[in-house]
Amino acid sequence: MDTSSTRLSLPSEPRAFGFFVDGAFVPAGPREVFERRSPGHDVPVTRIPKCTTGDLDMAVDAARAAFDDRRWSGLGGQARAAVLLKAGALIRERAEEIAYFETLENGKPISQARGEVAGCADMFDYASGLARSLHGDSFNNLGDGMLGLVTREPVGVVGIITPWNFPFLILCERVPYVLASGCTIVAKPSEVTSATTLILAEILTEAGLPDGCMNVVTGSGSTIGQALIEHPKVDMLSFTGSTAVGRRVVEAAGRTNFKKLGLELGGKNPQIVFADADLDDAADGVAFGIAFNTGQCCVSGSRLIVERPVADAFAQKVRDKLSRAVVGDPLDEATQIGAITTDAQNATILSYIEKGQAEGARLICGGTALDFGRGQYIAPTVFGDVTADMAIAREEIFGPVLTVMPFDTVEEAIAMANDTDYGLAASVWTKNIDKALMVTRRVQAGRFWVNTTLAGGPELPLGGFKQSGWGREAGMYGVEEYTQVKSVHVEIGKRTPWIA
Ligand code: NAD
Repeated sequence: MDTSSTRLSLPSEPRAFGFFVDGAFVPAGPREVFERRSPGHDVPVTRIPKCTTGDLDMAVDAARAAFDDRRWSGLGGQARAAVLLKAGALIRERAEEIAYFETLENGKPISQARGEVAGCADMFDYASGLARSLHGDSFNNLGDGMLGLVTREPVGVVGIITPWNFPFLILCERVPYVLASGCTIVAKPSEVTSATTLILAEILTEAGLPDGCMNVVTGSGSTIGQALIEHPKVDMLSFTGSTAVGRRVVEAAGRTNFKKLGLELGGKNPQIVFADADLDDAADGVAFGIAFNTGQCCVSGSRLIVERPVADAFAQKVRDKLSRAVVGDPLDEATQIGAITTDAQNATILSYIEKGQAEGARLICGGTALDFGRGQYIAPTVFGDVTADMAIAREEIFGPVLTVMPFDTVEEAIAMANDTDYGLAASVWTKNIDKALMVTRRVQAGRFWVNTTLAGGPELPLGGFKQSGWGREAGMYGVEEYTQVKSVHVEIGKRTPWIA
């Protein structure tokens, strides 16, 4: 890798990974191997084993043993915090390698991947503090003869299934919090973006995490993912991905051991822009909100709901912004919009663009694939004349496709924002504090931004309303998700006898 130029070079050969069980890599050996080609260049970049269900059992047994003998949960918060802090430091040491593989497998711009990796190290720093501050409650108001305690106990073995759009970031919004709680982990990354999850397992072992506490199995969702969600020895599952697979997770939990679930699913997120907003700032935010990560972002602001008097002019501003975004080679440091991650996603986005035109929406910009000689790229696309019943306005496209719909009143804007099965995220742009707060309180979304978008960090919880999911990740809320509370009544002195 040549880090001195502004464009990193491609690897001379794909890097072969093993999967990770009980503190060590297990080489692929006789197993089938999945060769990942970089979506920005169409060259092989990694080789990942296709684990068998026997491999999964081995990983779950390791996590089970590590949890049941209390080698991790039995430690004090200080000892757990030390491991998490060290892991954060090691992520920083290996940041360039992690960002490189994230970009190669996912197709996101290298500058963006670097930013995400820095944010991930910070997640570990923050969660280390939570390992020490996680605590229960006490009731000394039950009379002199009784003391009530509420303790927080780690849930146990946690399965973590992640998607391909932010492989390392989404993982790190979960792993440090799960470990802070005292649970152990079996992670299954998306089959197309497994490398950085495997690197994290190695880092955690080097940081001093006891063997068996972090295991990674690789392979397809339909085999290994399905077996993980059905596994009777897994106590909780944190699933991040599509609403369709989320439904399967719920069914599998009901059919098997009623494992506790955390679900982070899809979104169709409104961006409400009032005429009194700083429209240049808002246009930049709306362009960022739809084109960041090529729109392959669960919280992307894909539905622009804009006050009618400024609607046309504002759509032009967004178009002007997008026309100046640098689309191209993800390994080029100047690139702002990279490649589409999978062939299937590329086809899905293009089919929605066709559908939008067939339904009568007006193409304001984009609407085509971009040809850079290799890889797959789509121009940021904006549709006007969109009506609420169109598929492009209702369904999650998961690509750089923005729909524009005008509104006349605050009530109408709120109703339009809530007219969706999803409730993941929303933004409002206005200089009027009353309007900002009214909209913030009434739009149903787990994450809300006022005069900004896609802001985040380790402190605030993440999660969705409605069909966007259950539970919360990150922040103190995120650690608490991986605990269950136990109530304890302690008799002080002699108990009043039942039979005299
Ligand atoms: P996906 O649901 O197809 O896959 C997600 C993960 O589930 C992958 O690891 C996949 O291998 C696995 N999987 C697939 N089938 C499975 C099965 N039957 N049993 C168990 N696991 C299975 O989603 P994707 O295409 O990777 O990601 C895109 C989707 O993820 C979008 O809908 C997006 O909104 C959502 N997403 C949500 C969030 C959030 O925080 N809410 C974040 C990122 C992505």
